Amino acid sequence: MKILTVLGARPQFIKAAAFSRALDQIDNIEEIIIHTGQHYDQNMSDIFFEEMNIPKPKYLLQTGGKTHGAMTGQQLEQIENIFLNEKPDLVLVYGDTNSTLAGALAAAKLHIPVAHIEAGLRSFNKRMPEEINRILTDQLSDYLFVPSLLAKKNLVNEGVSSDKIFIVGDIMCDVSLYYKEKMVKPKWFDDLKLDKFILCTIHRAENTDDINKLTAIFKGLGAAKKDIILPLHPRTVNKIKEYNLNIAKNIYIVEPVGYLEMVWLEANTDLIVTDSGGVQKEAYFHGKYCITLREETEWIELVDQGFNTLVGCDSDLIEQSLNKNYNSNLYAGIYGHGDTSNKIINIMVQYEN
Ligand code: UDP
Repeated sequence: MKILTVLGARPQFIKAAAFSRALDQIDNIEEIIIHTGQHYDQNMSDIFFEEMNIPKPKYLLQTGGKTHGAMTGQQLEQIENIFLNEKPDLVLVYGDTNSTLAGALAAAKLHIPVAHIEAGLRSFNKRMPEEINRILTDQLSDYLFVPSLLAKKNLVNEGVSSDKIFIVGDIMCDVSLYYKEKMVKPKWFDDLKLDKFILCTIHRAENTDDINKLTAIFKGLGAAKKDIILPLHPRTVNKIKEYNLNIAKNIYIVEPVGYLEMVWLEANTDLIVTDSGGVQKEAYFHGKYCITLREETEWIELVDQGFNTLVGCDSDLIEQSLNKNYNSNLYAGIYGHGDTSNKIINIMVQYEN
């Protein structure tokens, strides 16, 4: 079986690290990777391929740094050409980026089966570009690999036939468990001389692209009594400059880190504050409480079961929630036990051979 995998952004590289390693163990499956170049910096792309041993992409496109329409359109055209030449048996896409949608759409038009890993997640907020990508990709997919029963219900409610939906757990759980053994303390950490710290990430367009929201978030973070380490996404760095935001002294902004360092920070922090989808779950996998800088989340099980609080970008709520103490929790298996990749491969092999 020949699988063409379309990757483009950081969270997809991380998911691919688990899945491509599992695929590599199986005879008679050839995986070819297309990297759309949606994320292209050394610390947003290359470092993950290097330190996580992700197979080198055969195709490297240059579609990053454009508006949504231009990026998706260019990806669609270029990916279609590759599919026509390579003639894959199956196309694999992850998550919810423009690259996910372009890969699924190009494949569906050529009648190539599409497998979507991390299907069925919904924020029910169509102002998020990711939500549009998720809904459309799921409609185009033939194999919908979902992390939970709730994700399956979302798809059934949108008319997706349940025989295409497979509950397999969350592939990020595979990644977190595997790399916990290999985590690395960032070189700069000791120089900060911090006793305790809160780990924070901010990158979601709905927060960064609104000056009032981003200002309120930094006001709330600045009012925390603890120090905050913030490995900052390039989009947010640019917006801080554009809005001329004042950053309080307890906030240590650093470059985005590689995954091994990220895992170390997650495992050693007191609390995680984020608007990232992946980091919300990693908080849970590492037994840390999570404060989410959004009004809604796709990972609602974590809120319902008491591992996550949604605070939006209300500066008072952010301040209050950061200044509370939280007990660490034990991973209770909501999203599986790290065997998601193997479950997906077994299903693909069973159906496609
Ligand atoms: N991550 C990382 N370095 C960083 C920040 C995040 O390796 O400096 C990882 C994080 O651990 C998670 C993934 O990137 O696995 C999340 O990606 P992102 O927040 O960009 O996207 P989302 O999960 O919201 O789609």
